[in-house]
Amino acid sequence: MPNIHNFGAGPAKLPEEVYEILRSELTNFNGSGISLLETSHRSATYLKLNTDIQNVVRNLLNVPDNYKILFIAGGGQGQFAAVPLNLISRTGTADYVVTGAWSEKAAKEAKKYGKVNLVVPETDKYTGIPDQSSWKLDPNASYVHICGNETIHGVEFDFIPDTKGVPLVADMSSNFMSKKLDVSKFGVIYGGAQKNIGTSGVALVIVREDLLNKALPICPSILDWTITAKNDSILNTPPMYAIHIMGRVLEWIVRQGGLDKMAENATKKSSMVYDVIENSNGFYYAPVAKNSRSKMNIPFRIGSPDGNDALEKEFLKGAEALNLIQLKGHRAVGGIRASTYNAVTFEDVNALVSYMKDFAKKHA
Ligand code: PMP
Repeated sequence: MPNIHNFGAGPAKLPEEVYEILRSELTNFNGSGISLLETSHRSATYLKLNTDIQNVVRNLLNVPDNYKILFIAGGGQGQFAAVPLNLISRTGTADYVVTGAWSEKAAKEAKKYGKVNLVVPETDKYTGIPDQSSWKLDPNASYVHICGNETIHGVEFDFIPDTKGVPLVADMSSNFMSKKLDVSKFGVIYGGAQKNIGTSGVALVIVREDLLNKALPICPSILDWTITAKNDSILNTPPMYAIHIMGRVLEWIVRQGGLDKMAENATKKSSMVYDVIENSNGFYYAPVAKNSRSKMNIPFRIGSPDGNDALEKEFLKGAEALNLIQLKGHRAVGGIRASTYNAVTFEDVNALVSYMKDFAKKHA
């Protein structure tokens, strides 16, 4: 197999070491003689795994005791519905800080269940996070929703907003476990697993206990955090294998040195790419304001802020020829996007930046 450098935004690269473990245990899980794929979700094997993974999450993020850790099917977008269904009943209204395509989608979903107040001015050009002093927070909101990292637009929060006592809810689908967090500053943190912590189908949800027992009567049981918590995330048959992969990825993070190491690597890897962009005399262009630049997803254009289709196509073709893959920008924004999640190695990033430099030299 050639060495493939996978910069996909999700489902994204997983560590090679995790694949080795998954391969070795695929048909004989923990000496049981059968695969986890054909093991009951009520078995002692699965119950242990379910508890072990919650413990790893709790240790890695230092999750306080008054928070529940849940595994819920339906990925990130399942939680776009679950958040209002579980929380909006208190006042019937919620604040959404829309900083990119994903928080926009989350706000749209919430409108089905209550009133949504947009905290920052509407735009379709997401290039940063408006200063907090300009936010129009509603003191009567049931919660304030942010997207910790906008995967398409590459806009990431590097601070925890002050919501004046209103519970803060964060979608961390694309930067979960990329850095330490003060979980106590959040009411809820959630994310689909398929970027930094596993594969698709499951969301990891961390919810403060006082926010339970507020679900709207129409909330489907499988999206109800209270019912899920009572059933220890085994209300129905969970996406067991996706949850197991999450566990193996989290154990890998622990072996690497934990979240401080992930954060250090993310800063270094993303800086390597941003530095090439900044030092290219305008050949490459990164649209996002410096203080909101994502360390996980780096969108950029070639030739001008609006991009140059022909050059970008040529860039992507040349990249593929060198096994630098899944670099195409999201169809909503075009251009190029390099994702530098936890599992993306320095070797991968070195290969990308040297290609970027060569390409710029050839075409500048
Ligand atoms: N939130 C963010 C920030 C995302 O990047 C994505 C997926 N790309 C989602 C939510 C939706 O996740 P899913 O596809 O698991 O529903």
